[in-house]
Amino acid sequence: MDVYGLIGNPVGHSLSPPMHEAGYDELGLDARYVAFEPPADEGAAAVEAAQTLGVSGLNVTIPFKQDVLDAVEPAPLAERIGAVNTVDFSGDTPTGHNTDAVGAVRALSHHGVALSGTAVVVGAGGAGRAVSFGLADEELSVRIANRTESKAHALADDVPGATGHGLDELGDLLADADVLVNCTSVGMESDETPVPADALHGDLAVLDAVYTPIETRLLRDAAAAGATTVDGAWMLLFQGVEAFELWTGAEAPVEAMNDVLRANL
Ligand code: NAP
Repeated sequence: MDVYGLIGNPVGHSLSPPMHEAGYDELGLDARYVAFEPPADEGAAAVEAAQTLGVSGLNVTIPFKQDVLDAVEPAPLAERIGAVNTVDFSGDTPTGHNTDAVGAVRALSHHGVALSGTAVVVGAGGAGRAVSFGLADEELSVRIANRTESKAHALADDVPGATGHGLDELGDLLADADVLVNCTSVGMESDETPVPADALHGDLAVLDAVYTPIETRLLRDAAAAGATTVDGAWMLLFQGVEAFELWTGAEAPVEAMNDVLRANL
């Protein structure tokens, strides 16, 4: 039996075990997915322990995404982002990947969104960083807006072709934009939005990384403006799908994984 897992602290709320195990069941794979909660400063040690125990693959979440860089050979995208959310133990040295970036890109393309033109990323934390690199690698021109404007400029300095802005510029930034991704935590467990409703329009595709609730105020406002909407569970799904495919080499059963993910939300 292959064992996969997740390290995070806390991990009690994680949706990854049922989502991945739905994929193993659908494909008839003899595998399990287990959530581990190492102490907050033991991320790299946990990766080494997992390798010793013969674990096949690990997802990595808060607070370990940077720390585990010390225990893996990072893939180029994970190295540029500076964070790892997936470790693959199939080679001699564990390799570190970042599937959050690809998860956002695949969530958009799954909904028929063209990956060209201009994207506005709101937020410059961990999700904003991964999504900005992911979209820039798809040849989108990326505008990053953040409450703390200096962080938007610092991130834009790292992302090819990107520019940094304050939230007060969102109206102008969105006027001719094609894609908007909310990567702030605004709207999580609250009916708030980081983007004024009157800045949204029908030519936008809007992805909200927030997935609790599944229909955020931003997505409601976007739908009312005639925009294409993509909820945060799609991003969560495709970061998992990408890890599943990397580990197993099989095409992930997206529909089965999506059904179980949404049933557990
Ligand atoms: P993070 O690193 O802590 O970054 C938080 C971001 O939110 C920062 O840009 C912060 O701005 C901004 N922010 C927080 N409160 C704000 C407020 N009241 N007004 C305006 N901006 C505010 O968090 P993260 O890891 O990037 O996660 C961000 C969100 O994405 C969370 O809701 C998380 O659950 C979600 N997420 C979803 C997925 C998925 O697969 N769907 C994956 C990763 C993350 P400052 O810099 O000014 O503080």
